[in-house]
Amino acid sequence: MIIPLHILNIISKIEDAGFEGFAVGGCVRDSFLGKVPSDWDVTTSATPQEILDIFKDYKTIPTGLKHGTVTVLTQNTPVEVTTYRIDGEYTDNRHPKSVTFSRRLEDDLSRRDFTINAMAYNPQFGLIDPFDGKSDLDAGVIRCVGSPAKRFSEDALRILRALRFSAVLGFEIDSTAKDSIRSLSQLLANVSRERISAELCKLIVAPNAVSVLLEFCPLFAQLLGAPESLEAFLQNIPYLNNSPKDPIIRFSILLHRTDSLVAAKAVKDLRLDSKTAQTIMRLVALADTSLLPEPAYIKTFLSEYGEEIFEMLLCMKKSLNTELSDTLLEIKEIYNKIREENQCYHIKMLEINGNDLMQEFDIKGTEIGKLLNQLLLAVINGKCENSHDKLLQYAKIYII
Ligand code: ATP
Ligand code: MG
Repeated sequence: MIIPLHILNIISKIEDAGFEGFAVGGCVRDSFLGKVPSDWDVTTSATPQEILDIFKDYKTIPTGLKHGTVTVLTQNTPVEVTTYRIDGEYTDNRHPKSVTFSRRLEDDLSRRDFTINAMAYNPQFGLIDPFDGKSDLDAGVIRCVGSPAKRFSEDALRILRALRFSAVLGFEIDSTAKDSIRSLSQLLANVSRERISAELCKLIVAPNAVSVLLEFCPLFAQLLGAPESLEAFLQNIPYLNNSPKDPIIRFSILLHRTDSLVAAKAVKDLRLDSKTAQTIMRLVALADTSLLPEPAYIKTFLSEYGEEIFEMLLCMKKSLNTELSDTLLEIKEIYNKIREENQCYHIKMLEINGNDLMQEFDIKGTEIGKLLNQLLLAVINGKCENSHDKLLQYAKIYII
């Protein structure tokens, strides 16, 4: 396994001080899968205070001292160094009531969720894998460390993590774990909407999303607050296969043709930023509008919704196969031409502005906006050229 130099340095400094240090969790899993890990976590027998002492010449951040985590900054890369931990009793299906530190690596590995995430590695000791995670990794299986029912009840977020890892890695979830996921899914009600949303956003764009969403459709429908939309979801999910890996487009595909109030509630529950939420709602509402391959129509659409929605809607329609692909191509060509030639489809693109109109006519406030809109429509529909003089003339004759 190739461990980056800054991680090797951290491990050897910990060892020089007489403690153990291992790369652990996702980075070990991803390295074996031949992927470049997004981050490297270190687990250690040293207590947080001992880590702070060992790295006193480094910049450190006491990220979560109570939970044993110190962030060590090496070459400006933050690395989380966490003390071997035993989690106490779980009371709320999410967090352990207490955490105790341990000097035994096995204790720490046994609190981890899945066998593929419970492996540790360092150059001196090689792979430490008490739960046979490497075999599960090779076989493509997601298996809980210990009893699935117990582990999912302790922390219900693990249910979604299992589904997400299955979608991302294309792994099968072990069958007892699957049974527990189905029977304990209601515990997800105790997990914060933000955590659920973060997992769903990763899951929905994953390579194996479609089969996981189909297999656990009732759970996802429930999670999105839309159990009554199960049928619509089952019909929508396969379209994700043709769609780009963009969560906005994918959530829009999933939610279109469901009840609009249900979709609005689901989007709200996803706790997305307001712009993203609004984009999804617009795409859901527009999904069944037929787009016409006509320049004036496209420009009017652009003036109303903007380029981003237009481009996403084209992607969505392509995935949904609702418009003939020739028509979509034609629309795309017209759109490209509009953009390339910088044709006017927005008030800001008019060769006249509110000040010009105020100087010429005795109007103010909302009247200016209305007049600009009328001029824009005239330009879009080819009734007036987009030049200052022509627009003024047009306004004088036809509007005022
Ligand atoms: P990724 O970063 O790709 O999402 P990861 O496995 O690194 O995957 P993290 O959330 O970064 O996931 O967690 C790091 C490690 O901490 C995991 O590999 C796992 O060993 C452990 N872990 C994380 N969340 C839980 C949990 N809810 N229950 C038990 N162990 C967990
Ligand atoms: Mg990680």
